[in-house]
Amino acid sequence: MTDLLSQRIEAKRGDLVALTQCLIRIPTLNPPGQHYHDICELLRTRLSPTGFACELIRATGAPGDSDRYPRWNLIARREGTRPGECVHFNSHHDVVEVGAGWTRAPFGGALEGDRIYGRGACDMKGGLAASVIAAEAFVEQHPDYAGAIEISATADEESGGYGGVAHLAGLGYFSPDRVQHVIIPEPLDKTRICLGHRGGWWAEIETKGEIAHGSMPFLGDCAVRHMGAVLQAFEDRLYPAMATRHTDMPVVPEGARQSTMNINAIHGGQPENPPGFDGLPAHCVPDSCRITIDRRFLVEETADGVRDEVIALLDDLKHRRANFNYEIRELNRVVPSMTDRDAPVVTTVASAIREMLGTDPTYVASPGSYDQKHIDRIGKLKNCIAYGPGVLELAHKPDEWVGVTDMIDSARVMGRSLEKLLLP
Ligand SMILES: [Zn+2]
Repeated sequence: MTDLLSQRIEAKRGDLVALTQCLIRIPTLNPPGQHYHDICELLRTRLSPTGFACELIRATGAPGDSDRYPRWNLIARREGTRPGECVHFNSHHDVVEVGAGWTRAPFGGALEGDRIYGRGACDMKGGLAASVIAAEAFVEQHPDYAGAIEISATADEESGGYGGVAHLAGLGYFSPDRVQHVIIPEPLDKTRICLGHRGGWWAEIETKGEIAHGSMPFLGDCAVRHMGAVLQAFEDRLYPAMATRHTDMPVVPEGARQSTMNINAIHGGQPENPPGFDGLPAHCVPDSCRITIDRRFLVEETADGVRDEVIALLDDLKHRRANFNYEIRELNRVVPSMTDRDAPVVTTVASAIREMLGTDPTYVASPGSYDQKHIDRIGKLKNCIAYGPGVLELAHKPDEWVGVTDMIDSARVMGRSLEKLLLP
């Protein structure tokens, strides 16, 4: 049985390459969110003749959705001949901007040796194509399966997923009575199972001052110096505290296996000179300074705890430092997600990796988040992993590529997983 399905998938190698190229050649750039309808239509045309019932769903009213840039999603579902569980493959269809440094056409889908090049090749149109091939081969090999197979292609993962999985989860498409197992073919590598991701908390902090003439700063109050005190408190207290926290999350790379915080931006005082003006700046004491922080946290922490820790530092400065005043605005928060190692989808894919690839899987967690957060928090579905072909480090880089053999191998693992879950 195993060998026959693998042979069937291997026989589809040319089809897999062509499908991946077709997907790459639709430039689903986000922002702004282009050609989402085109890519959903391509998949509907592909999957409908195989018996998949396809729905195109627009996330009307989601952030970024407009008549010019509508947020389209596809959900395809194929029922088996008997009751059973539903296995869902979820891929995002959007890609990030091209950026500089390419030596291949970013939307050309060039095949060179075993590699297909293009923006989105590994993140994650290669994974999407592999899941389609795996499902089609499985249906041909085992037309009499139990349960259901779903394939979704969803919008806006690269900008938070609110016009994609979050919207669909809100509509009930990921509720546990409809879907029992979710595999997200993000490019984690064909022998790695990604159990989840860290959380994130983003905020803007503003220190307040008083404007005055720069020659008499004692008549004003310098907001930039107040911010300097904030940054010093981070260095002295917050960063050392974060470094001591240990986690059970197998985050890769190793440096992300703890809490981290980036300071994304700092702005204080007068704006930069406007374009075309090359005169000297005026002399003023700045009355405002703002930073944006990006705090990534562990499954052992909570978003409220992360927020309270920062506020406690700021309130302490208020007591210790004359005229210190601040405002803080939370910009966004994402909860961490971590699936148990003994969850059914994890043990199933793990044994499929052993059987198909002859090696033990490595369990990892992602430093940044992906759509699992919405499936977990909104969909209330815990039985979810990321598993797919491609090298994570190539994502968002120039000359991004995905390996054809890696796609074949991960499709074999996906197909074997379907056999384990839908052929009781
Ligand atoms: Zn991705």
